[in-house]
Amino acid sequence: MSVFKALQVTQAADGHFQSAVVERDTSSLPAGDVLVRVQYSSLNYKDALSASGNPGVTRHFPHTPGIDAAGVVETSSVDGFVPGDEVIVTGYDLGMSTSGGFGQYIRVPAAWLVKRPAGLTLRESMLLGTAGLTAGLCVEKLLRAGFTPKAGPVLVSGATGGVGSIAVSLLAHLGCQVVAVTGKAEQADYLQRLGATQVLPREALQEGTAKPLLKEQWAAAVDTVGGDILFNIVKSLRRGGSVACCGLTAGVNFQASVLPFILRGVDLLGVDSVEIPLADKASVWDKLAGPWKMAELEDLVEEIGLEQLPEAIQRILAGKMVGRALVKLD
Ligand code: NDP
Repeated sequence: MSVFKALQVTQAADGHFQSAVVERDTSSLPAGDVLVRVQYSSLNYKDALSASGNPGVTRHFPHTPGIDAAGVVETSSVDGFVPGDEVIVTGYDLGMSTSGGFGQYIRVPAAWLVKRPAGLTLRESMLLGTAGLTAGLCVEKLLRAGFTPKAGPVLVSGATGGVGSIAVSLLAHLGCQVVAVTGKAEQADYLQRLGATQVLPREALQEGTAKPLLKEQWAAAVDTVGGDILFNIVKSLRRGGSVACCGLTAGVNFQASVLPFILRGVDLLGVDSVEIPLADKASVWDKLAGPWKMAELEDLVEEIGLEQLPEAIQRILAGKMVGRALVKLD
């Protein structure tokens, strides 16, 4: 048994959810194959949904959120993992119903663990976290659909967010012409530093929703927001273009017309980073640690501790986060 620090979300008698840093004991963690001492986690939009009681993410409280964790194996009851192994966990049930990475320890099934690839430190892996894995999966789907970096401009929506920032950076790293869409005009310099060649205001992608087709502009797109913006992206893809759809900050519903699909042959590609097979996650981690390793990641990180998480959670819920919040647990 070890006492450890964790962010704990509780529901007050009036129904409100509140977060505080508490001391817990490892005996309070769920059963599992591997006990991991967490060194780093990171904040994702889904963590903020969990911490604010969204029943689609977490139903039982008190709860420690954190869908990402990177750390060192402390004990293992399975072959394949021994104390001292450095591991990464993202998604599956971590931080949803299972106590998550906003605590100094997690206990999880071995089937959730990826061994840290040689080209990334634990810190760098959480600088990327689920956001980086998702951006990588989006890019991989676009490439598999036939997109090539020289095919033409690629749009990224929600560009200053976690997934968006890394998508901009990764696409620029691959030699693409990246057009970033943001609601934060004041962050144009930040997006250009990440590699965007053009920055568009969010409103530009919210106009024209009544039209069945818009001018062909984008060879491909990474959409992290959904809603009317996704509707307009589909209508402004070039013939044969694709959009990878992964997020919902602008809304879970979007309108659709068959015309872009049947007149321009465009593709709408769904991206899930949570429940995909572990081997698929490991394959993208290897790319992010190797040929896709981005030099400018430090530019997009803000390092915080558990005590700063409640404020950062409010910021990400309000759509005001820029880049990634890396959570240091030690
Ligand atoms: P962030 O909050 O970091 O980024 C979201 C960004 O979306 C914001 O920074 C903002 O960027 C933009 N945005 C916010 N509100 C609105 C709005 N009302 N209309 C249009 N744009 C808006 O979140 P993450 O990067 O962590 O996640 C992005 C999305 O992807 C979330 O919906 C998340 O749930 C989803 N996701 C899905 C995954 C999957 O497996 N499919 C995995 C990871 C995340 P800006 O101001 O620059 O426009």
